[in-house]
Amino acid sequence: MINMKHMKLLYTGKAKSVYEIDSDTVLMEFRDDLTAGDGAKKDTKSKKGALNAEISAKLLELMEDNGIPTHFIEYQKPNRHVAKKVEILPLEVICRNIATGSLLRRYPFKAGQKLSPPIIEMGYKSDEYHDPMLNDDIALALGAASSREELDEIRQITLKVNRVLKDFLLPRGIILVDFKLEFGYDSSGKLLLADEISPDTCRFWDAGTGEIMDKDRFRQDLGSVVEYYEEVKRRILSQI
Ligand code: UDP
Repeated sequence: MINMKHMKLLYTGKAKSVYEIDSDTVLMEFRDDLTAGDGAKKDTKSKKGALNAEISAKLLELMEDNGIPTHFIEYQKPNRHVAKKVEILPLEVICRNIATGSLLRRYPFKAGQKLSPPIIEMGYKSDEYHDPMLNDDIALALGAASSREELDEIRQITLKVNRVLKDFLLPRGIILVDFKLEFGYDSSGKLLLADEISPDTCRFWDAGTGEIMDKDRFRQDLGSVVEYYEEVKRRILSQI
């Protein structure tokens, strides 16, 4: 077990803290904090960080097993990941299979409408500007991405993540509604899937009942947030 006391804190986000292990490696601590609305709504739920760390470890391993390179190296119980140090692109890459959330506030989609093919949206990661949607020209002009090819590669990887995740979750009784990814470059210049894949960053609906099993329980004050994250973990770890 790594002793965090002497490690340099590189970054504190809304739900994770990142410490430097060495020049190529970081320790990510998944905290129990929950936020919504660009940080306007805040709470702390005991065990949430550990649940997300374990769920995300399993799902990032699933990506690696399917040929998608990630920053993930190792899960350390209860709430840490060892990961490759990456330079994160200031992009939120969102992929949607079903219309819900902010899409309904911005466009005349029907709630629950199937989106096939899936929609990919890129946002500029900024609480101040509320993650505004980007097109390729804006992303390049802002320096959020370095080329059109890079943006195409990110979209291709995102679609693959979507296929792999959907096919993994459905037999476990979970519908993948939408999710957010982040990408970064390691020290050798390789593009890696980074951050986390968890009920904080995905929408998961129960395939049988339609119940919400993700952070929307917190956003919408539906209660039992941790209980549903536990259920997501149970299903994701189950051998079927
Ligand atoms: N999402 C995220 N971080 C963000 C914004 C969105 O992880 O800063 C995820 C969110 O959990 C959902 C998907 O991206 O799975 C699409 O979110 P949406 O644009 O509908 O935003 P919201 O309704 O949360 O404002």
